Amino acid sequence: MNLHILGCGDAFGSGGRHQSSYLVEASDRLFLLDCGPTALLAMKRTGIDPRRLDAIILSHLHGDHFGGVPFFFIEYLYQRPKRDPLVVAGPSGTEEKVRQLFQLMYGGGSSEKALPPTCFQVLIPDEPASVKGIEVLPFRVPHQSHEISLGFTVRYQGKRVLFSGDSKWTEIFIEKARGIDLFLCECSFYSQQPGMHANYHDLQANLSRLESKQLILTHLGEEMLAHQGELAARVAADGMVIEF
Ligand SMILES: [Zn+2]
Ligand SMILES: [Zn+2]
Repeated sequence: MNLHILGCGDAFGSGGRHQSSYLVEASDRLFLLDCGPTALLAMKRTGIDPRRLDAIILSHLHGDHFGGVPFFFIEYLYQRPKRDPLVVAGPSGTEEKVRQLFQLMYGGGSSEKALPPTCFQVLIPDEPASVKGIEVLPFRVPHQSHEISLGFTVRYQGKRVLFSGDSKWTEIFIEKARGIDLFLCECSFYSQQPGMHANYHDLQANLSRLESKQLILTHLGEEMLAHQGELAARVAADGMVIEF
């Protein structure tokens, strides 16, 4: 199974990196973990046909993580229609916000502009879900105080990926990373701690406790990029393909 890093930048596109999006390619499934505004263009750079996309699984509803969904909708409406419905799964409020964003970006007039065939699915913390046959176990992470931010493990064909979403460091990752094939961990900062994001110092203190087979740091901000040469963990880059 392959994971294509479509975007490993933060909300500000630090270092010229695309915003959050990761494409998981299995033999008969293709799905996105998050869909930042740059996801469709980055997917086209991989050469993989966007019509093959089965599902988009969203960790939370910040613009750098879900703002790219409307571009997939117009792709399917006007460029290359997709035969089967796209599944968009995410925390409660996903359908409402995705529909609102699409209307703001491409709606017009008084009637609601129709989406291409789409099925929405709500992910509830600690309730296992099947998204097009992909097993998803969502859990709540400390990133927002009012709305729900999720991390999740996804399992398909015996392989498991852990995605932290956006989150401050939490002990939950130690438990969730056990036996995981690939842990994709947000690490926006090196030592600063502005807001609810992880920093490398907290992560470094826990590296020896993480029992995932591979660890990749992502969602990198300017401070992390300035310290890239000093890190004891692998760092994502746009266009990188990771086999697991
Ligand atoms: Zn973010
Ligand atoms: Zn966020």
